[in-house]
Amino acid sequence: MIMTPQPSGSLPDRTLYERRESEVRSYARSMPRQFGRAEGVWMHDDQGGRYLDFLSGCSTLNYGHNHPVLKRALLDYIGADGIAHGLDLHTGAKREFLAAFEELILKPRGLDHRLMFTGPTGTNAVEAAIKLARKVTGREMVIAFTNGFHGMTLGALACTGNAAKRGGAGVPLTHVSHEPYDGYYGPDVDTADLLEQRLADPSSGLDAPAAILVETVQGEGGLNAASPEWLRRIAGIAKAHGALLIVDDIQAGCGRTGGFFSFEDMGFTPDIVTLAKSLSGMGLPFALTLLRPEFDRWSPGEHNGTFRGNNHAFVTATAALRHFWSGGDFRRDVERRGTLLEARLARIAAEHGFETRGRGMMRGVNVGSGELAATVTAACFDAGLIIETSGAHDEVIKVLAPLVIDDAVFGAGLDILETRIREAMAADYAVAAE
Ligand SMILES: *Cc1c(COP(=O)(O)O)cnc(C)c1O
Repeated sequence: MIMTPQPSGSLPDRTLYERRESEVRSYARSMPRQFGRAEGVWMHDDQGGRYLDFLSGCSTLNYGHNHPVLKRALLDYIGADGIAHGLDLHTGAKREFLAAFEELILKPRGLDHRLMFTGPTGTNAVEAAIKLARKVTGREMVIAFTNGFHGMTLGALACTGNAAKRGGAGVPLTHVSHEPYDGYYGPDVDTADLLEQRLADPSSGLDAPAAILVETVQGEGGLNAASPEWLRRIAGIAKAHGALLIVDDIQAGCGRTGGFFSFEDMGFTPDIVTLAKSLSGMGLPFALTLLRPEFDRWSPGEHNGTFRGNNHAFVTATAALRHFWSGGDFRRDVERRGTLLEARLARIAAEHGFETRGRGMMRGVNVGSGELAATVTAACFDAGLIIETSGAHDEVIKVLAPLVIDDAVFGAGLDILETRIREAMAADYAVAAE
């Protein structure tokens, strides 16, 4: 059992944050420490506390914190005065990234997609994707799904389901229809049938869509994992109705579900794919929109931005591709670890009558209430485990451990989760019995 030492010193004075940092701050509220260092699967606060990281910067650190190979590449690049700004110039760092991405990701998967460097966050990649789909098809309406999460800028936010997030927009969020995701009405209703029926019916009121935008596993929306059959149906429906299929792989991609893309071996090819989060491999901002060449209808600078080529991220992303994706070992390892995770979560779920969610190393347990989930994650944090929630009511405790985590450490972290859930449930029963 690996113990995670608790902070020894007194907690930092938070009044500066409270005085000067906007109320919009969020993760810092559930983790009220000040963090300094991190390596591998561990984060350290400034008081000497050590935390096992089952959040991984919200899956931006699939390869762990400060991976030595990535860090070395970045230090060498900076040490040699490599270009640091992000204009979309041609640089050696960009060339090496393009070459590695072509050689290790696109070619082996038979993909002829082009790379569009967007602004550096995921929502930028989604904005570019839906803008392009509208331009290519001349249609306005995008189909997104219940519980989908696609980002916070207006276009992507319109595709996002969560009412609290949507409420921040301040203007109507339009030109998107939210259709039921796989399993939304339970196992007996095939929601692909419903969509097909509505699109085929000229009187359904559903306009012909520019795109169907889908996550294969809903990262923020409760870790619902669509079946390959359902996704294939959705791909077929998009094609039949002249809509572009956009897979938002920002959270599920970069190995989180095993393959580099979450849709690999499922028998369909998206027209557009968005990537961000773990793409740089080191937590650096970097997003990409992949598009089939026949849809590359942009005119130069039509979708622009100052930071469309984070050279430091190119360097670390290239190092990550070469280190982790040159052979099939990494994928096999992630899949094996995902199976371990599935078994552990299934055991926890069975003990309490909960259900598990997700796929690969992107799994969680639905504990039925956001309150219980928050109690558990707070108790985990006190025990040295960083873990967050997902879902419409934040009711799914979500394990996003680094993909490179050692089995024994992984098991120890899951032990903490299992124990804290058991304790929270016991406390619940004690209260209920009073
Ligand atoms: C995080 C996320 C986004 C938004 O990315 P940002 O970098 O936060 O803008 C979009 N889609 C999915 C599936 C995500 O998980």
